Amino acid sequence: MKQEYKAISMAWLSRTGLTNLNSGEGGFNLIDVKKYKWERKEYPYVSGQAMRFYLKEAIRRKLDPGTREACVPDPQGEACGEPDKCILCDLFGFMHPRGAKIRLSPTKVSPAMGLKPLDGTLVTDFLTRRHRAEEAGRLEGDIVNVELSTNIYKVGICLDLLRVGREEAFETFAETPRLIRSLKFDDIIDEKERERRIGLLLDAVKEFSDYSKQARLLTDFTPDVIIACLQREYSHRLQKALELERDGLKLSIPRLDQVLREMIGEKFFAGILDGVLENTKEIHETLKKFKVEITTPREMIGKVKSEIGIV
Ligand SMILES: [Zn+2]
Repeated sequence: MKQEYKAISMAWLSRTGLTNLNSGEGGFNLIDVKKYKWERKEYPYVSGQAMRFYLKEAIRRKLDPGTREACVPDPQGEACGEPDKCILCDLFGFMHPRGAKIRLSPTKVSPAMGLKPLDGTLVTDFLTRRHRAEEAGRLEGDIVNVELSTNIYKVGICLDLLRVGREEAFETFAETPRLIRSLKFDDIIDEKERERRIGLLLDAVKEFSDYSKQARLLTDFTPDVIIACLQREYSHRLQKALELERDGLKLSIPRLDQVLREMIGEKFFAGILDGVLENTKEIHETLKKFKVEITTPREMIGKVKSEIGIV
């Protein structure tokens, strides 16, 4: 694997049909949508915690059933905390409640922010939990209200490559034992296993699927328009690259142009599904100006993997 890159960051948009990806606190017979407010309007969002869960479950689906490589947290939410053996504890970190053991997450994940106001996109549907009554042939049911919305969401992740499969350690120097210490990273797994784990996370981005309520609301929430950056400098700047214009479904071209200019010298890839945004042609033109290779989102993940040297 190429060692020159410090981070892989990605930002993407995903357009959904009617769905409820992450419920809020709800109420009596109500399954609501999690909401945030911006300039007195409400928008849906999916928490960063839920996004991390989806990615973890996508990795788990890739592994053999019964494997001991991906722990299931105990009822208190405590993970195994053994990043050398456990892929999820390595990639996503952990914190044991008494603070005795802690690992910062090399994978940073944003919440998925709905970009269109709910007032034009929200419906409330009735969901009937039907069950057979004791009397033969009669059906009984409880009515539950479910909020559903169509929207376009913005999400991002940033993977701190130096920290995957490694642990922070202090290095002390004999000649200045207390005054000068430096931070270093000790390998806890070999290079081949590091590559495999990074590959699993990248594949999870194109395949994650375990969102809530899918029995009735089958949704694809994977990237439709994605931009990835292999970074020699660690930063989260790419997360600002994809911004919608206030009206319609147009990507802000000046914003994309400016962020790409700010990160010039880094290696970019883009994956675009046609028809998700209204100004796909202008997006292509802008990306081409910066010599960014454009494929479909899933193909793009493959390009990123081969660029860093993992297959
Ligand atoms: Zn674990």
